[in-house]
Amino acid sequence: MTPPYPVDLHCHTSRSDGAWSPQQVLAHAADIGVRVLAMTDHEIGGDPDTLTAAEALGIQLVPGIEIITCGRGHSGEKADILGLGIDWQAPALAAHAAGNRQAQCNWTAAIVPRLVEQYGGHWPLEPWLARVGQPFLHEGNVYDELVRRGHLSGVRYEQYLANYVAPGAPLHVPLQRPRATDAIALVHTLGGLAILTLTDLDPADWQPVVAALCADGSLDGLEVRHPKLSAENQARAQALAHAHGLLLSGGSDFHKPARGPLAQTGLTLDEAEPLLKRLREP
Ligand SMILES: [Zn+2]
Repeated sequence: MTPPYPVDLHCHTSRSDGAWSPQQVLAHAADIGVRVLAMTDHEIGGDPDTLTAAEALGIQLVPGIEIITCGRGHSGEKADILGLGIDWQAPALAAHAAGNRQAQCNWTAAIVPRLVEQYGGHWPLEPWLARVGQPFLHEGNVYDELVRRGHLSGVRYEQYLANYVAPGAPLHVPLQRPRATDAIALVHTLGGLAILTLTDLDPADWQPVVAALCADGSLDGLEVRHPKLSAENQARAQALAHAHGLLLSGGSDFHKPARGPLAQTGLTLDEAEPLLKRLREP
């Protein structure tokens, strides 16, 4: 079976908020014929076993990360940064992951009383953490639990983020995040290429945000393909990348099949070649 795209440079595993283990994602990628896959878990790298497993399956695995930032848009939207081709073993990555873990634990401790306040009932944390298999909760875990308890019938995840979680909304609990320029600097420290994601930014903000991050942060590329970008916005993003001499990136942002399949969105091998060539350079 041939996937729509042979190159998928954005996906998540159970190391962050994805449903499948890295091995399950790799096995599925191999099944559907993905050739190049970047694993970009939130704020955390992968392990050497994953790289070995990918090699055995004939998949070029690009070690990646997705760093959520505190926003660059004028209305405070997030401008998240993907790091592609990073060193998963770097001490600076371990330090980032540890700092994030602490911030996320603080957030988890603060969101539970908020849920009690909003919805009543009991929200015991220990069994919840055991169920999700993580030391802290992600926004997606809270969404899943609210759906499970029947509080969000018919509310899609994107609507949930906009109406329940955004600043000023009832479930907004601030979480310490780096600035986008600091995230780019970290990706460069880790030896990778820094790619700006566009889906949380208003298209009206794209040009000034990209210009600022090219000037202040030496941005390397732009994620021009993503399931949330319309065909028109993909074309607009591609034009913006060309205008600023940025590499093209793209992927499915796979988390679990219910949120959209792996490699449904991505790049052709030709489209990805300039980026893959940069990754091959020492
Ligand atoms: Zn993502």
